[in-house]
Amino acid sequence: MSGGYTGKMLIIDLNNHATSVEETDMNDARDFIGAKGLGAKILFDRLPKGTDPLSPENLLMFTTGPLTGTSTQTSGRGTVVTKSPQTGLYLDSHFGGIFAAEMKKAGWDFIIIKGRSNTPVYIVINDDSVEFKDASEIWGKECLETHNWLQQTEGRVRTALIGPAGENLVKFSAITIDGHRHAGRGGPGAVMGSKNLKAIAINGSNKVPLHDPDGFRKVSKEVLKQIKENDFVPIRKKYGTPYWVKPVNDEGFIPTRNYQEGYFEKGDNLRAEVMQEKIVDGSGSCFNCVIMCWNKSSIKSGPHKGVSLVGPEYETFALMGSNLGVGSVEDVAYLNERCNELGMDTISLGGVLGFAIEAYEKGAINKGDLGSNDIGWGKVEELAKLITDIAHRKGKAGDVLAEGVKIASEKLGKESENYAIHAKGLEIPGYDPRGTFGMGLAYATSDRGGCHQRAWTAKAELYDPELDRFSFDKKAKLIKDIQDERAAFFSLVLCDFAPISEENCVDMWNLASGFDHTVGSYLLAGERVWNLIRLFNIREGLDPTGDKLPARFFKESFTKGPAKGIVLSEDEFQQSLKEYYSLRGWNSKGIPTTKKLKELGLLKYAKAIGLDN
Ligand code: SF4
Repeated sequence: MSGGYTGKMLIIDLNNHATSVEETDMNDARDFIGAKGLGAKILFDRLPKGTDPLSPENLLMFTTGPLTGTSTQTSGRGTVVTKSPQTGLYLDSHFGGIFAAEMKKAGWDFIIIKGRSNTPVYIVINDDSVEFKDASEIWGKECLETHNWLQQTEGRVRTALIGPAGENLVKFSAITIDGHRHAGRGGPGAVMGSKNLKAIAINGSNKVPLHDPDGFRKVSKEVLKQIKENDFVPIRKKYGTPYWVKPVNDEGFIPTRNYQEGYFEKGDNLRAEVMQEKIVDGSGSCFNCVIMCWNKSSIKSGPHKGVSLVGPEYETFALMGSNLGVGSVEDVAYLNERCNELGMDTISLGGVLGFAIEAYEKGAINKGDLGSNDIGWGKVEELAKLITDIAHRKGKAGDVLAEGVKIASEKLGKESENYAIHAKGLEIPGYDPRGTFGMGLAYATSDRGGCHQRAWTAKAELYDPELDRFSFDKKAKLIKDIQDERAAFFSLVLCDFAPISEENCVDMWNLASGFDHTVGSYLLAGERVWNLIRLFNIREGLDPTGDKLPARFFKESFTKGPAKGIVLSEDEFQQSLKEYYSLRGWNSKGIPTTKKLKELGLLKYAKAIGLDN
């Protein structure tokens, strides 16, 4: 072991409050990089098939990569890897802040948590020292309150914690990082809650070792220069992700009223410029990032004056704004703050609330099930009450909606599956595929269900003259290539928003670790990671016919906006899926072939999914 990695993993067993230390396997690090990829490898190897995600046996892993905590830009990223309680499949959920960099400085590549504590605890890590502490005083507290309590009680620590939603096993609950960032998607907060673990507070005092510090510094400088010279960075810096509200609404594919429309008539009120004028006080950033894309905001007038938060992001404007018929930045900010402090993912919660309103309008949810609520599009106070009910699983509606739209629709029946908008159980983000067909294929094939980050094609589909956004033509290859590249990038692990070339990524990985990878072997590692996760998902029961999209996208069209009248063609979608499987070297049912597994060095996993090798 030469650098990049600390070479150590901290194993925490909550059954008996015991810890042990294992060496990071450097052969696996060479093949699977770190964070997402190495996490997937360990999850596959150590988690027994069929493990209930909310049982003590599930593993909750905080993972870093070889660039985490180094001097290069956006190196504060980390990843939570576990089996998702929402999809029953593999989950990685990425986060910013400083926590992951602090983990590396404390000497840990991974923190792997198993078991369940008899009583609520929090864990304090100071380098090699690990203490288990009684969490009864903070159990039930909201997220920022818990973060502040930990700062007061434990001193200057970085934190990963859950709010009431995680404690109550809400299936889309998040882990909050350093008070303001989130490992949001797929329910990692519920896994943490199921272990009776309220928080981790960490402090590290070491430097991340590097194989060639001078060489690394030189490439890091080049990365910084490229970021500073990138055309889009000033826009991201000025507006953050909300920049996308205007183009996506103007082009007619922003989710509106539970994906019934793609153009929101009050969309102009949610534009980034309006947000800047009305609620933004300043910017902020994760560890080591000049982009500084955070919007620090506060509500200046009205019933929620004084509420402050970091955000909202684009996805929150789309899912908790237009998707709920909410048309003011203050109201979206208010709902966002409630969601953050109770500890839930805003994408899934927005999907769940949109589903709830439609289910209520169409009679699948009765008024009696909602307690005192009378939900409807744009009814902000009623939605805020329902958000609290969901976080506490209060009442029939709160409890059933806490399961996410897939399970809620199965429980409610009455054809409510028609408006449960998800892929593999994960609610779909803010780009309706009827206005950007590639996103449809990206959602259907994503390794963790309805996710935009595995292959975000929306920008290319809008602006690349070679691509037609209303066609599946050329999308299969585009998506496969992006997925493989992102799988490698999320294993290093750096920020999605940072424009960093593949060459620089490989150079930094080699200079940090002493490995001798090429761009080709780096991308091959990404493909290896993608295939291993596919095998994990198949082992855990994924039927490849599960690579699908909600029926609404094929049957119902918008009545307004540039995508008016458009629906996806089932035949063309299936054709594109077939092309995607073929490009991946998978059979017609979406199962990796032994030839492909051999090529990727994964043949030993073939038996796990019943392939004869
Ligand atoms: S670009 Fe934004 S999210 Fe990414 S590391 Fe920088 S501040 Fe954090």
